[in-house]
Amino acid sequence: MKTKLVLLPGDGIGPEVVGAAVKVLRAVGQRYGHTFETETHLMGGCAIDAFGVPLPEETLGACLQADAVLLGAVGGPKWDDPTAKVRPEQGLLGVRKGLGLFANLRPVKLHPDLVDSSPLRRERLEGVDLLVVRELTGGLYFGPKERREVNGEVQAIDTMVYAEHEIRRVTHLAFQAARGRRKKVTSVDKANILETSRLWRQTVAEVSKQYPDVQYENILVDAAAMYLVTRPASFDVMVTENMFGDILTDEASVLSGSMGNLPSASLGDGLNGHGHPRGLYEPIHGSAPDIAGKGIANPIGTILSLAMLLRHSLGLETEARAVENAVDTAIREGHRTADLARNGEKALSTEDITEIFVSRI
Ligand code: NAD
Repeated sequence: MKTKLVLLPGDGIGPEVVGAAVKVLRAVGQRYGHTFETETHLMGGCAIDAFGVPLPEETLGACLQADAVLLGAVGGPKWDDPTAKVRPEQGLLGVRKGLGLFANLRPVKLHPDLVDSSPLRRERLEGVDLLVVRELTGGLYFGPKERREVNGEVQAIDTMVYAEHEIRRVTHLAFQAARGRRKKVTSVDKANILETSRLWRQTVAEVSKQYPDVQYENILVDAAAMYLVTRPASFDVMVTENMFGDILTDEASVLSGSMGNLPSASLGDGLNGHGHPRGLYEPIHGSAPDIAGKGIANPIGTILSLAMLLRHSLGLETEARAVENAVDTAIREGHRTADLARNGEKALSTEDITEIFVSRI
């Protein structure tokens, strides 16, 4: 198979973890006889430095031509000025919007050998295997926003907007995903307060009728935040709006032992040249400026994102599993980066652990 992938390493540890994933990609290409062409483009803070904008036209154009996109992370203190007109995150939102990626899939699974890396007790963690489906191009992050002066002081306004079709399409995706799993969907909202949530709940209920084989429940977001740490194994697929999903997935990430472990896939309706969804794949963590440049970042989230890319955008299930198995095996053998090492375990560098993953492909 011949494919064209765009790499957007971004800022901070982004280039380090994407570099690691590319080594794994090359190993998969060699082992299974594929040619993966890659093109690297600037997005985020690095693009602001080079071009004055977080998402240069050339970058978005390349993403639109690609079979799939692999992203590291964007942002950092250098571009954090709250009064700045251009911000790295605008690049991220722009690429998601530009590619029509309305659903973000974030699987959270705990490797049994990493139970001690999680702050939760072992009995709470047993059986944790959930998938958060987060709406990605609507809600508060994309609604009208403004600053205005009222009675001599500045007011800021963000607006949460959802249309039925935006809720419907992500809900279908969640129910379809549940069919391939334990057949349970939990919809998370704040229907006791928010109008958008009442529309959300109504629309999800309507869609659910088309999936009588899938069990379905509603939970308020505040309760969901609590249940994620008190009974996380009770969830299968969780579907929710943009901001709730953003927050809940960071919370859920600690179940896996480290934020550095978790991958994600962003999908929409668009198909690539192979007839599969054109997607954007990225770890859920940020640019981790506190450890950037030290060579100690955990690349697992990005490598597992690559596995999702192989599966969803290229239809290469065997190769995806080979990558996931390589990570599983290395963890079982006791190899750890600093964020996962406990009780005197040796902490490997990004490069060293990547070599181990590559050798297990
Ligand atoms: P972060 O995810 O970058 O880091 C949070 C903590 O987790 C840090 O202590 C970091 O060292 C650690 N961590 C994260 N990924 C790790 C990895 N792979 N290996 C080892 N440790 C890891 O979140 P933050 O500190 O809140 O944000 C830093 C910057 O990243 C900000 O500019 C923020 O806007 C940006 N950000 C970007 C994205 C994205 O690109 N998708 C997401 C979240 C935050």
